[in-house]
Amino acid sequence: MRLSRFYLPTLKEVPADAEVVSHKLLLRAGLIRQLTSGIYTYLPMGLRALNKVADIVRQEMDRAGAQEILMPMVQPAELWKETGRWEFYGKELLRFKDRKDSDYCLGPTHEEVVTNLVRGEVRSYRQLPLNLYQIQTKFRDEIRPRFGLMRGREFVMKDAYSFDRDEEGANKSYWSMYQAYAQIFRRLGLKFKAVEADSGAIGGSFSHEFMVLAATGEDTIATCQECEWAANLEKAAVICKVLPCTDNCSPFTVVDTPGAHTVEDVAKLLGVTTRKVIKTLLFDVDGQPVAALVRGDHELNEIKLKNHLHATDVRLASPEQVREWTGAPVGFAGPVDLKVRILADQDLCGDTGYVAGANQADKHLLNVSLSRDVEVEAYADLRTITHEDVCPRCGKGVSLTRGIEVGHVFKLGYKYSKAMHATFLDENGKDQTMVMGCYGIGVSRIIASAIEQNHDDGGIIFPPSIAPYEAALISLGKSGDAVNAKAAELYESLRAEGIEVLFDDREERPGVKFKDADLVGYPMQIVLGGKGLERGVVEAKDRRTGEKAELPLEDFTKAFK
Ligand code: ATP
Ligand code: MG
Ligand code: MG
Ligand code: MG
Repeated sequence: MRLSRFYLPTLKEVPADAEVVSHKLLLRAGLIRQLTSGIYTYLPMGLRALNKVADIVRQEMDRAGAQEILMPMVQPAELWKETGRWEFYGKELLRFKDRKDSDYCLGPTHEEVVTNLVRGEVRSYRQLPLNLYQIQTKFRDEIRPRFGLMRGREFVMKDAYSFDRDEEGANKSYWSMYQAYAQIFRRLGLKFKAVEADSGAIGGSFSHEFMVLAATGEDTIATCQECEWAANLEKAAVICKVLPCTDNCSPFTVVDTPGAHTVEDVAKLLGVTTRKVIKTLLFDVDGQPVAALVRGDHELNEIKLKNHLHATDVRLASPEQVREWTGAPVGFAGPVDLKVRILADQDLCGDTGYVAGANQADKHLLNVSLSRDVEVEAYADLRTITHEDVCPRCGKGVSLTRGIEVGHVFKLGYKYSKAMHATFLDENGKDQTMVMGCYGIGVSRIIASAIEQNHDDGGIIFPPSIAPYEAALISLGKSGDAVNAKAAELYESLRAEGIEVLFDDREERPGVKFKDADLVGYPMQIVLGGKGLERGVVEAKDRRTGEKAELPLEDFTKAFK
């Protein structure tokens, strides 16, 4: 492709609203543009990278025996009602009605749809095992879409679903996906770690998350210093103490509001008007409110007394207590100091209060949702966690690092097959329920993760497997001169050999061309200038190391291959 005709709108300025480096660079290098919160367009360069990731995922899924399908994004409510998730999924599920007033949602995941498909057609044990996957756009109305492609509302996921006749088969499917995932992330050139995740009712080690190691990751990983053991603390409960505000303004307290989803729900639970009390809800990682910051007055003090959160010094609370309060699966409970700074509505500042929530706090912004007119900053300091808090297998200490969840393998067991009656006939003609597993990969999130791990001051350094183009060919000539003509010839010969090369044939200063090539991050830059042409050489620069080498122009294409 000739850059003079390529849609590559690079930006000189760092976009104001982009917090993390991948978001900044994706915008600056002209890979994506935001349409609205958490929703992006992939420009040609961005789409090429996305397709590279998808191709690797596809190849390894096929190699592992999974078969690609494509399921609809729009899903009828009836299926979600069968599994009970229509009620339980929370606000991430975008629900809407069609013209006939029937309920639908945009698919955040596809367990219901795929189970519905398979139960209609798979009747005999001979048709099992079966693993179906798709690469498709998902929609989750995330509470806090941010960091560009890292946490979008619309994003591309690979999701696979396995169906087996028994536990043994399901376990085999699980570990085969685990291996395929490791191979995918190796091929993508990422530094990653597979960590144990909450496996809910299934128990055992049948849920693993694949974490790309990066300081900007939203997840906290506990890694044993001695053995191989590592686990995600995403669901870990932390107990937070709200520190007193220095301003002497009206006090507030904190109450928990189980089962409430909206300000209205909370007000109803508390038996007060919405206008009067609610300023801020504290959500857990699944978007369920677990606490509300409430303006303190006489009426609310009464409520406070009725509430079990007031009486306990939460610093001494056990994981069991937190589980009881929050309803969250608790892997860890430790005291933290939560500093809440109310930025916009001084009214809310107050004296000491307590919050208990399931969260991922580690000097990290908590999932605090804001009402329209209040801005809150909340930071928590997690004390050092020891093995007493999280019990690695060997009993030694753990260290904490941060990671980005790029993949998740999960043994589902009978959860969906039972609810939706996905059964088959065994050898004896007896009805049996299928055993399922589900396996997700954040295809678009991988692009962001790769950039978090591979960049420098100049821009992106794409791992070759993901790079939109293998190389940029930069001509330092002018239109109509010998250098440009020779560069064009070289470009054609590289293309003819199937090398993915972008030809920078623009009428731009060399500095501009070099800067753009660094920014977009092609693994190699091939430069042809007047002096080089005279001597019959081109210069090849390795984007990562900056190393340069002069190579003979004759036979360059062959040497490059
Ligand atoms: P997270 O904990 O980050 O919210 P999740 O556990 O909800 O992710 P899964 O349901 O396991 O996500 O989905 C499979 C994969 O999809 C995740 O491992 C992640 O890579 C990707 N993914 C999930 N949510 C998003 C999102 N909002 N934006 C981009 N990718 C996402
Ligand atoms: Mg999520
Ligand atoms: Mg997760
Ligand atoms: Mg997950």
